[in-house]
Amino acid sequence: MARPTSATIHIDALRHNLAQIRARAPNSGVIAVVKADGYGHGLERVARALSGADAFGVAALSDAERLRAAGISQPILLLSGFDEAADIPRLRQLQVDTAVHHVSQLEMLEQAEPGEPIRCWLKVDTGMHRLGFPPEFVRQAHARLSALAGVVGEIVPMNHFASSDEFDNPQTLEQLRVFADATSGLHGGRSLANSAAVLGWPDAHAQWVRPGGALYGMSVVAGTTGADFGLRPAMTLATRLIAVNHVKKGGRIGYAGTWECPEDMPVGVAAIGYGDGYPRAAPAGTPVLVDGVGTQLIGRVSMDLMTIDLRGVPAAKVGSPVVLWGPELPVERIAEAAGTIAYELTCSITRRVRFSEA
Ligand code: PLP
Repeated sequence: MARPTSATIHIDALRHNLAQIRARAPNSGVIAVVKADGYGHGLERVARALSGADAFGVAALSDAERLRAAGISQPILLLSGFDEAADIPRLRQLQVDTAVHHVSQLEMLEQAEPGEPIRCWLKVDTGMHRLGFPPEFVRQAHARLSALAGVVGEIVPMNHFASSDEFDNPQTLEQLRVFADATSGLHGGRSLANSAAVLGWPDAHAQWVRPGGALYGMSVVAGTTGADFGLRPAMTLATRLIAVNHVKKGGRIGYAGTWECPEDMPVGVAAIGYGDGYPRAAPAGTPVLVDGVGTQLIGRVSMDLMTIDLRGVPAAKVGSPVVLWGPELPVERIAEAAGTIAYELTCSITRRVRFSEA
C-alpha cells in the first residue's frame, strides 16, 4: 500500500486569494510570487491556477525555464536578478525580466553581446540592507540602464520591506520615504509591496504588488492567520493512523521518552515525520486533527512517524485520517508552535509526499 501521506492543493483557494489581493490593491498589477516551487505548492500547478496574474516572480532562472516550458506566457521577473554574464542570453531567450540590484550586473549588461532586448527592474536598498542600490546611486544606475540599447521598456524601481508584517512599525514608513526620495522624478511605475504590505500598507501598493504568501492563504502577521484577512489556505497536509496503542500510565513516548502518559491512554501513530517536511521542532501540544477532532501531538516528531494523544478521540482506529494543517487547522498555528513562519513549513514538504489537486 502507498504511504498515505499527502498534500492536497486547493486550486479554488489560490484563485480566491488572488481575487482578494486584487480587491485590496485594485489599481496595481499583480506579480504572483511563485519562487521555491510556489512556496512548496508546486510551481507549474500554481502558475496555471493563477493564470489571471499579470506576471510571475521567481528567484531562480531554472524556475523561469520551467514556467516557459509549461506554456506560461505572462511576464516573469527574476526577483533577485541574474548571477553571471552567461545568464543574459538565457534571459533574452526566455524573455524574462530581471531585477538589477548591483553594479556588477550593470557592468555585465554593458559588456553583453547585442541580442534580444531585456526589461530591467531597478532594486533600491531602502533600509533592509539585503539587495539593492544605495539610494544615492539610484539615479546613476537608472541612467546607465536607460542608455543601453539592449534594455527596453520602463525601468521599474522596486524595494523590499523588512518589517511590513508589523502594521505599526515605523521602519516601513522610513523605507517608503527613502524610496520616494531616491526615485522622485523617474518616470514610470513602482513596485514595493509584498503580501503584508498589500494587507496592511495601502500607501505602498503603487503600480505593481508582489504577493507570495497571501496567495497561498498564509499570514506572517504575528498572532493572525490568513483567514483573518479573508484568505483561504491552499494546502492540506494529511496522513492516516497506522497504529493505535494502549499505553499504561507512566509510559514514555518516542525518542528520549520526553512525554510521559499521565494515565492509561490510547496513543495513535501517524505516518508523517520530519522526513516528509513536518517540523521536528513542533513540541508536544502542537494541534492535529484525527477524524476531524482536535487533539495534540505527544513525544518527539521522528523521521517517518509522529505520536498522537487519542484520549479525546475514542473512536480513532488504524486508518483514521489525520490532518496536520489545512482549512480546518491553520498552518500558522503549527508554525507558531514550532518557532517558525508558515512559509517555511509549506516550503519544506519533501518529495515523498504525494501531491494532488482539489
Ligand atoms: N518580493 C520579493 C523581492 C521577495 O523576496 C518576496 C519574498 O520574500 C516577495 C516579494 C513576496 O513576499 P511575501 O511572500 O511575504 O508576500
